[in-house]
Amino acid sequence: MAIYTCLDMIRDCRANAAAGWSYLVRTYLPVTRWLLEHYQQQRPLETVVQQLQDPKLPLWAAPGPATERDFVVQLRLQIIPDPNVADNPLDLEILTRAFEPLTAIERQFVWFDTMAYDTGKTAIVMNVEPNTVEGARQRGDEMLRSNMDNWSRGLLRKHGWALGHAARGARTDACLPHLAFLEMIDGRITWNRKKDIEFHLMKCWYCVDHFCRIREADYALHAVSPLGDEEVARFRKLLNLPEERKPLLARLFGR
Ligand SMILES: [Zn+2]
Repeated sequence: MAIYTCLDMIRDCRANAAAGWSYLVRTYLPVTRWLLEHYQQQRPLETVVQQLQDPKLPLWAAPGPATERDFVVQLRLQIIPDPNVADNPLDLEILTRAFEPLTAIERQFVWFDTMAYDTGKTAIVMNVEPNTVEGARQRGDEMLRSNMDNWSRGLLRKHGWALGHAARGARTDACLPHLAFLEMIDGRITWNRKKDIEFHLMKCWYCVDHFCRIREADYALHAVSPLGDEEVARFRKLLNLPEERKPLLARLFGR
C-alpha cells in the first residue's frame, strides 16, 4: 500500500474527506499547538481546529503547498495572521542599509529575532553554537544603532510582526524557487548553487523570511511530541470523525 502523505491529506481535506482530517489530527495538530505556543496565541487549539475544518480556507486552495514543510509555513500564516500594524519605524530599507555587511547566514540569525526566537532557540533551529548567534546579533544591533536616529534595544523583536508582513510583500520574480530552501537545509546542493542562493539572500528579505519559516517548519515537525490517544479521540469527536479503530494486534491483546 502506498504511504499516505501530506499531499494526500491536502487533497482529501479539500474534498472534505474523513481520511484527510484524521491525518491532520494525528500529524499536524502537535505542530499547530507548538506554533500557537511559540507565538503566544491565546486561542485554544479547539477553536483553531474548527477554523481549519473549513475546506474553503486559502490553506486548502489549489494548487496548494508543494511539500510538507511548505504546508506548515502556510498553516502558520493561516492560524496566526499578521496583526494590523499601523506604522513601523523600522522598515526593510533600513535593514538593507544597516545589515549590508552581514552574511546570508547571519541575516537568518538576526531575522529569527523578529520571529521571537531567542539566541538559544535560534541556535538549536540553525544547528550552530549559541555564541555564534549572539555575536551576529550584537553586531547587527550595533549596525542598526549607527544607521538610526532613534535606535533603542530590542527593535527587531518589537517590530517583528510588521517586518514579517513587509518581507512577505517584497517577493519578486527573481526570488528563489521553493525547492532551493529545502535543498539548502537538506544539504543536497552544489557549491555553485549554494553561492547563488546566498547571493540572492543578501539582497532579499522575502527569501530570508521564507527560509527562516521553512527552517521553523522543519524544526517544529521534528521537535513536537505526538498527541496522546485521549486527545486524538477528543479532536476526532470535535471534527465529527468516527472513533478510530485500534490496529488488529492491539485489539487482540486488549491494548
Ligand atoms: Zn527573494
